[in-house]
Amino acid sequence: MKKTIAVLAGDGIGPEVMVEGIRVLDSVAQKFGHDFEYDYALVGGAAFEVFGEHCPISTIETCANADAILFGSVGGPVNAQDDQKWKSCEANSILALRKEFKFNINIRPIAMIPSLMDISPLKAKVVQPKADIVIFRELNGDIYFGAHEQGVDDNGVRYATDVAEYNEHQIASIVHQAFKATQNRGKHLTSVDKANVLATSKLWRTIVDEIAPQYSDVKVSHMYVDNCAMQMIVNPSQFDVIVTANLFGDILSDLGAVLPGSLGLIPSVSLNAEGFGLYEPSGGSAPDIAGQGKANPIAQILSAAMMLEYSFNMLEEANAIYQAVNRALTSGKRTIDIVGSDAVAVSLSQMADAIIAEIMEASLV
Ligand code: NAD
Repeated sequence: MKKTIAVLAGDGIGPEVMVEGIRVLDSVAQKFGHDFEYDYALVGGAAFEVFGEHCPISTIETCANADAILFGSVGGPVNAQDDQKWKSCEANSILALRKEFKFNINIRPIAMIPSLMDISPLKAKVVQPKADIVIFRELNGDIYFGAHEQGVDDNGVRYATDVAEYNEHQIASIVHQAFKATQNRGKHLTSVDKANVLATSKLWRTIVDEIAPQYSDVKVSHMYVDNCAMQMIVNPSQFDVIVTANLFGDILSDLGAVLPGSLGLIPSVSLNAEGFGLYEPSGGSAPDIAGQGKANPIAQILSAAMMLEYSFNMLEEANAIYQAVNRALTSGKRTIDIVGSDAVAVSLSQMADAIIAEIMEASLV
């Protein structure tokens, strides 16, 4: 099958891990007889250097002509954010793409990797039986997209307001997707809100309850966001699919991303209503380790696997990558972020080599 992939490597470790993601995709193409064409475009600080902006129209066009977007990461050192090249770089790049392609759902799978239980910040007895959660976060509404205002009132007191807004269609769109996802998994949907306080949450809960009868094989639980944050730490194995609004999802998905032990392990996808997707690692550009060959390429490689699964419906191919990553880790290969010592760590390309070898050696079912 022929597929065109827009490749936006970005900044920092983005280009390094992207090279490894593409090598893995090439091995899958070779093994399964596909033809992946890569259209490269600049984004973030790399684009600013050439075009004077973080997400130029040429990059948008490359994405629009592709079957999917494979994204690396953008942004500069946290202490260099006043530099024009880095100022608002992440927002300008990611929000521009999100707005252009109307991505309304972010999906982040958080699965404990059995051979890496020892590096989770949680005790093994807490993450057992294996924590395996998928978080569906709404991306287009909520407090991030309402009016923001700061001012001084007639008494000279400074104030600020942020408006949170949702309509029923925005909520229904993601809730249906989350129900469908859990039907293929553990058939348990946890809808997270703050319905004891917020009007947007009350509407959210109403819509979930209205839709639930269409998925009668799925058990639905409602949970307040504060309790959910606690439950993800004390008993993460209770969750299957979580669906929640933009602000709560932003926080919970970052909380979840650290459970397996490194940001370098977690992929994600942002999808629009037509199923077009942008696939990216959950971490940022990691300027502290960029250019040193130390980054963990697994989040980028698993992002590529998610692309095969969600955008190209290549389930066997995606599974070949998931299995290969597990086998490479089980064989003892570790990048510095998951082993903690330079002496025994492999480089990012050695990690990818191990994964590619596993893909090529596995027998086709
Ligand atoms: P970060 O995620 O880049 O790094 C946080 C820590 O995680 C660092 O110690 C880093 O070395 C480590 N880390 C991240 N990915 C790793 C990987 N694949 N392998 C090994 N270690 C990894 O977050 P930050 O330091 O707060 O931000 C740095 C820059 O990244 C900022 O400019 C920020 O705006 C940007 N950022 C971009 C995105 C994105 O592109 N989607 C997301 C988050 C942050």
